Amino acid sequence: MFSVAIDGPAGAGKSSVAKAAAQELGFVYVDTGALYRTVALYLLRHGINPKDSEAVEPVLSEIQVDLEHTSEGQKMFLCGEDVTGLIRTPEVSMAASDCSALPVVRAFLLDLQRDLARRNNVLMDGRDIGSVVLPNAELKIFLTASPEERAKRRMLQLQEAGNPADFETILKDIQQRDYQDSHRAAAPLKQAEDAVLLDTTEIDLQQSVKVLLELVKERRGA
Ligand code: C5P
Repeated sequence: MFSVAIDGPAGAGKSSVAKAAAQELGFVYVDTGALYRTVALYLLRHGINPKDSEAVEPVLSEIQVDLEHTSEGQKMFLCGEDVTGLIRTPEVSMAASDCSALPVVRAFLLDLQRDLARRNNVLMDGRDIGSVVLPNAELKIFLTASPEERAKRRMLQLQEAGNPADFETILKDIQQRDYQDSHRAAAPLKQAEDAVLLDTTEIDLQQSVKVLLELVKERRGA
C-alpha cells in the first residue's frame, strides 16, 4: 500500500487538495478531522466538557464512529446516524480541537486510522498523520497558508455549506485553533522532519494538486 500523509493547520486546503489528488490517483481520501468532529458532536450532545479527560474517558466506549467512502466524499456516522453535515459548525470545530488534545481521544481513534491505511492506498489528512499515525508513510506533506488566506477560504466553504459566518470571527477561531493544536502536549501540530513543506498562500488549488501529484509520481517511481 502507498500512503500519503498530509498535515497542516485548519483551512490550509488539505481536504480540497487531498480530495482532488485522491481522485486522480484512485486512492481513498481520509479526512481524520471528521473523526475528531464526530466524537466532539457526541460530547456536545451529551453535555460533556470536551476538555475534561475524566468525563470523556468513560463515555468513549459508547461512541461508535464509522466512515464510508462514497462518490460524494467521506460520510461520517455516529452510532449509526449520518452526521456528515452536522459536524461542520464552528461550535463542533472548537470542541473537536478541545477533545483532540486529550490523549485518551487520540488513542481511541488511532487504530481506526491505521487500519484504513493498511487496507487502502490513502491520502490521509490531519495534524499528526506524518508524525504519529503513519510515521512510515511513503510521502509526507505539510500544507499551510497564511491565517488570513485560510480564514478567507473557510468563510467561502461555510457559505457554500449554508453556514455563513463573518471573516473576523473565523480568523479568530482559526488563530485560536492553531494555537491550541500546536501547543498541546499530545501529538501537537508540527511539520514532520521528513515532510515536504507546501505553502499554498500564493498558489491555487489546481497548482497545489499538481505539485502533490508530481511528488507522488516521484516517490512511486523511486
Ligand atoms: O481538520 P479539521 O479542522 O476538520 O479538524 C478539526 C480539529 O480536529 C482540529 O482543530 C484538530 O484539533 C483536530 N485534529 C487532530 N488531529 C487530526 C485531525 C484533526 O487533532 N489528525
